[in-house]
Amino acid sequence: MSANRLDRNVVVLGGMGVGKSTAIQRFLNNEFNESHYPTVSNTYNKRITLNDREYNLTITDTAGQDETSILDPNYAGATDVYVIAFSVAYRKSFDIAKVVRDKILDISGVESVAMVLVGNKSDLKADRQVSRAEAEELARAFNCPYVETSAKENQNIEELFVKSVKIANKARGDDDT
Ligand code: GDP
Ligand code: MG
Repeated sequence: MSANRLDRNVVVLGGMGVGKSTAIQRFLNNEFNESHYPTVSNTYNKRITLNDREYNLTITDTAGQDETSILDPNYAGATDVYVIAFSVAYRKSFDIAKVVRDKILDISGVESVAMVLVGNKSDLKADRQVSRAEAEELARAFNCPYVETSAKENQNIEELFVKSVKIANKARGDDDT
């Protein structure tokens, strides 16, 4: 079985404080942490099974300098899918998502890369600054899916990473899943 395990590298990027680390911890350990730890990049592994196939996900969490997370050019070659996160409760992070995507394209030197746009903190309903329709429109422009999550309430976190694997598979021409 292990011989058939497929490796997929997921890199999570976006503005500071949007919940990248929290979403990853939620996915890995089903934990929610109230405190903000703006650490350096960290890499995690998790095995998942999807449509009877086993995957070893390597998830790279990135940490911000200023308001954008560091995009190490070394990621580019090895990355199967980028997760670009913003907070639906913070408009500036939505604008930063656009900048992050431009940087990814710059560094990759290609016209399109596998990515998923994520609007986190959907639980903050009264503080919402970016509508779902607006985010979906941006995702259409990016030619990528949009997933709305709450790492706090564990909404769509699993779906986000499953979607990321599917998008990575699609980009590899592997539509079997
Ligand atoms: P990062 O800089 O993108 O890694 O952001 P963090 O994961 O450190 O989260 C920043 C802050 O937002 C922390 O205080 C988290 O507890 C909080 N946070 C993360 N996700 C959510 C969410 O879905 N909803 C709410 N209300 N708060 C969240
Ligand atoms: Mg973080």
